[in-house]
Amino acid sequence: MYIFANWKMYLTAAEATALAQDIAVPTSDATVAVFPNTLDFERVHDVVGASIATGAQNVAWTPQGAYTGATSARLFKEAGATYALVGHSERRHVFGESNEDVRKKLEACIDAGLIPVLCIGETKEDLDNDKKEYRLKKQLMKACEGLDGIETLIVAYEPVWAISKGGVGESCSPEQAEKTHLWIKNELKQYTNADIPVIYGGSVKAENVVSFTSLPSVEGVLIGSASTRADSFKAILSAVS
Ligand code: PEP
Repeated sequence: MYIFANWKMYLTAAEATALAQDIAVPTSDATVAVFPNTLDFERVHDVVGASIATGAQNVAWTPQGAYTGATSARLFKEAGATYALVGHSERRHVFGESNEDVRKKLEACIDAGLIPVLCIGETKEDLDNDKKEYRLKKQLMKACEGLDGIETLIVAYEPVWAISKGGVGESCSPEQAEKTHLWIKNELKQYTNADIPVIYGGSVKAENVVSFTSLPSVEGVLIGSASTRADSFKAILSAVS
């Protein structure tokens, strides 16, 4: 079971360090990883120690060069990262990342030895226009077709409409998540024989986490807002363990 915490740009350096210290004692058998802001990455990595892994929220698609403001997968690997989020909905919809950018970043992560967490999800508009499967199919195809090293991938199903804004949001129903995860797993068979874990993200909190993690096809959760406070994150970890 994967419990991944995406801290986005919610925390100051002092808050990220305090949160890392507070959660550093493992309370769960799950594979736990935190994804701090790039500037806080190394200090958080040092504080959480070996019990909790760390990941990048975003990587550049090239290892090195004249790319002002970018941080490569290779640099994150050197700093101790295990994972990297790729194609998070905020990267796609706020920063305009295309499926082609996502593909290049997946390749960069695999080349650097990071485990990519490929985020896919339909928007509310897709849902209303009956385009959910079309959107997910396209995101998976562009990301996975002919991808060397695909067997290391983790897929995060995150319906864009279910991702909270500052903690306010409504998750997708566990029934919908289960159905979609099974559909994704079936789609992935076109690209690999490997058993790719599929995790759920979108307004997960202590009160609803078990309704997702108890489903056979949900192999973990990606949590944003509720992972940025020690009390709620620890409540999630103990609910799952
Ligand atoms: C996310 O951003 O990946 C996420 C799932 O956020 P939240 O838990 O706040 O909906």
